[in-house]
Amino acid sequence: MPTYWYKADDAEQACEQCAEGFDVLQQLSDAPVTVCLGCSKPVHRIVRAPEFCTNQRWNTKKMLADGNLKRMGFQKLVKNSSGKYEDVLKDK
Ligand SMILES: [Zn+2]
Repeated sequence: MPTYWYKADDAEQACEQCAEGFDVLQQLSDAPVTVCLGCSKPVHRIVRAPEFCTNQRWNTKKMLADGNLKRMGFQKLVKNSSGKYEDVLKDK
């Protein structure tokens, strides 16, 4: 189920919740939220890149860093100039 992000049309008039923006878990078929559940002021939906995607990409990159692989007990085999595979993490 996707999460939608809503924010007050007018942050000056809004309560703390919708001035900052809030998430609503909705079905695609659900009608969009038009007013804040806290203060009943008009809100609008904000389209944004799903956060989990960007985080995941970042985590993957971090997870595959040499230091992290070594810590987790992995080997990172890289073919050297003589055609043999070497564990490049061994000396790190
Ligand atoms: Zn509000």
